[in-house]
Amino acid sequence: MALKLYNTASRSLEVFTPPPPSTVTMYNCGPTVYNYVHIGNLRAYVFADILRRTLEADGYEVKQIVNITDVGHLVSDGDEGEDKMSVGAKREGKSVEEIIAQYSGAFYADMKSLNVHMAQKFPRATAYIAEQKQMIETLAEKGFSYVTSDGIYFDTSKFPAYPDFAKLDVAGMQAGSRVDMGEKKNSTDFALWKFSPEDGMHREQEWDSPPDTSRKGFPGWHIECSAIIKAELGDTIDIHTGGIDHIPLHHTNEIAQSASANGVPLARFWLHSAFMNVEGEKMSKSLGNTFRLVDLHERGIPPLAFRYWLLTAHYRTQVNFTWEALAAAQSAYNKLTNAVHELPRATDDASIKEYLDEFNIAIHDDLNTASVIASIWKLLKDGRYSSGEKYNTIRIIDKVLGLELGDIPPPKAFEIPPEVTQLLEKRKAAREANDWALSDSLRSDIRALGYEVKDTGGGQTVTVSV
Ligand code: AMP
Ligand code: ZN
Repeated sequence: MALKLYNTASRSLEVFTPPPPSTVTMYNCGPTVYNYVHIGNLRAYVFADILRRTLEADGYEVKQIVNITDVGHLVSDGDEGEDKMSVGAKREGKSVEEIIAQYSGAFYADMKSLNVHMAQKFPRATAYIAEQKQMIETLAEKGFSYVTSDGIYFDTSKFPAYPDFAKLDVAGMQAGSRVDMGEKKNSTDFALWKFSPEDGMHREQEWDSPPDTSRKGFPGWHIECSAIIKAELGDTIDIHTGGIDHIPLHHTNEIAQSASANGVPLARFWLHSAFMNVEGEKMSKSLGNTFRLVDLHERGIPPLAFRYWLLTAHYRTQVNFTWEALAAAQSAYNKLTNAVHELPRATDDASIKEYLDEFNIAIHDDLNTASVIASIWKLLKDGRYSSGEKYNTIRIIDKVLGLELGDIPPPKAFEIPPEVTQLLEKRKAAREANDWALSDSLRSDIRALGYEVKDTGGGQTVTVSV
């Protein structure tokens, strides 16, 4: 069955070609590892995982790369302000290397807990400095860049298609930002490379600037993706994904750089997942409204219940985070895993064509996981089929959903009482203040109430004492 995907480039559903078997090259913009990823970030990777599993179920081989941004992403998302990595290092009194190890490790742990299949590679931007410099030199040779006192900039007026991808009103943007353009020629121009300030200070993250000069500097935020894609997957890839916030800036700039340097389009399909909001606002570090996967776990919402909740919405619709919504998803996920687990196993591998067809239609319609989940509930109640057939059918469908239905004994449902939640919050504060004695005594208090607390991946998880 043909796979239809919504391509941001054409703003329409397109049939993904060529048909299988063939290799699909896919790139997902990865996290900036200066802090823990939040559950909004994780939505982007669960979506990419569903896409990959769907392609694999269709018989494609998927070559998937997710980068790790460990340099060049400035606090403004533009070309101003401090590098997020050094903000993280200063905040914690650690080296940038330590920060990278800590937060990329926590990211991988979250991905595993969410049952996300790991990409073949997670290349770090700092491991591809030579490739980034090479692309910057190519752009300079082809006349797409210019040098200012603080960096090397891409001249967007040399790439007439610049506004097309995000349907930008460049004239309006120019008019609105004339005041703070600095030495930039056009307001949409962006840094390929930034020079380190010439203050004689040694910086952990700086390299000779391209073309090799004695001046030190570091790459701009966007060039890493263009250079890593070229090195790992080629000049034109099949699928590029990210969150919708990337459309007007990061992806627009990646397209300009890569198409100008390579002379061919960067990607055939561009897919973007929608935001996770909290009370109507985007979940983001700067608004201070973020939650981590371990925060959910502490409140009794296991990672796969969160995955279930994500899949009950289409990836292109916004979701609104509330504890009530998560609790409802957790209870539904519990019921579902219980129901599947209790189905007597079949002695043969007979499955139900009607439901597999329904599944295929939904998942091939731009990954409609919400409809797939509704169909599983319908199947469980359908008296026309045997338990064995139901079990086999759900197992096939779950290869794409990745909810471990029927795989594992269902998690024991439990609710954490408010007094335990309060103790957990106190213990979290104690640990942040390195007050280990208080932390241990709070653990005993929690145990006295019948709960065990464990410290995993930088957070607390709770189980019922046995
Ligand atoms: P960053 O580390 O900021 O580069 O973000 C990593 C990924 O998470 C990107 O694909 C973003 O588009 C995505 N993202 C960031 N915030 C949210 C949010 N609140 N909801 C959904 N996706 C998000
Ligand atoms: Zn990117």
